[in-house]
Amino acid sequence: MSFPNVRLRRLRKNKKIRELLEEVRLSTKDLICPIFVQEDLKSRMQVESMPDIERLPLKDVVDEVNSIADLKIPAIMLFGIPAKKDDIGTAAFSENGIVQRAISEIRKSLDSEIAIMADVCLCQYTTAAHCGLVKGDKIDNDSTLDVLKKIAVSQAQAGVDVVSPSAMMDGQVKAIRQGLDDSGFTDVAIMSHSAKHRSSLYSPFRDMAHCAPKFSDRKTYQLPYTNPTEAMREVETDILEGVDIVMIKPALAYLDLIAKTRSSFNIPISAYSVSGEYSLIKAAAKQGWIDEREVTMEVLTAIKRAGADMIVTYLSKIAAKTLNG
Ligand SMILES: [Zn+2]
Repeated sequence: MSFPNVRLRRLRKNKKIRELLEEVRLSTKDLICPIFVQEDLKSRMQVESMPDIERLPLKDVVDEVNSIADLKIPAIMLFGIPAKKDDIGTAAFSENGIVQRAISEIRKSLDSEIAIMADVCLCQYTTAAHCGLVKGDKIDNDSTLDVLKKIAVSQAQAGVDVVSPSAMMDGQVKAIRQGLDDSGFTDVAIMSHSAKHRSSLYSPFRDMAHCAPKFSDRKTYQLPYTNPTEAMREVETDILEGVDIVMIKPALAYLDLIAKTRSSFNIPISAYSVSGEYSLIKAAAKQGWIDEREVTMEVLTAIKRAGADMIVTYLSKIAAKTLNG
């Protein structure tokens, strides 16, 4: 038997052949761009740990979303920073809350079409800055569910397309689905932070959103990164509760869990490439040690290759500009 002359380099000979053979293609359509809107802000504000990402005053939100839509990015994810915090996070579910006002403004004034997603959590809105309500020295699961439900319904009333609970409370998807359905919002989808890990890669986000916990840490509700089986139980539980899209968070250090979710479940998967992943790239690029655009494309393509259908990422604009040429 003659030895076949296998030469895989034939398929890498020139750019057009390489393009034909691309197995995974990142598209602007895969991207969800996070936006931070702050209630008491007069003008845009930079945060040192997340270069080029700004906190926006309400008056700049529509312009910002228009510029994101112009880059062919199909969705935004809104985070709010309220002027006042209290024990129960009233500003998170108030009709006049900053996120609710931002959603209605975008709905009313946007030139083009974009999917509006919004974070559903308490950490930016309570004095304790935990993702759930505090009772004594504990984070109370079941009383938090009622508040998460109220937040989701208030965002639905403002016109959100997708609510994205990130509190990691047991039963949050079921409670929110019930709340939305009871209020007539059966068409508002839930993209839950299903497997959200206790990660040190969130630090720049905490600077951005003023939400570092005032006591203890988030280890009693966020997943330990040592437990992939438990992560899959979280995903499975959310599916049983009626979630529409599951999320793995962070992304880059958790590609195995994205792949495992892909092979185990028939459900759309989002991955959240978090603030620390962004800042690592920006910091190294600023030093001239890596190429920002090249690394952005490599990292986001890897997240898609692992099995994500969509990626929430602060790199959205860099990726879109690169993809749009
Ligand atoms: Zn939170």
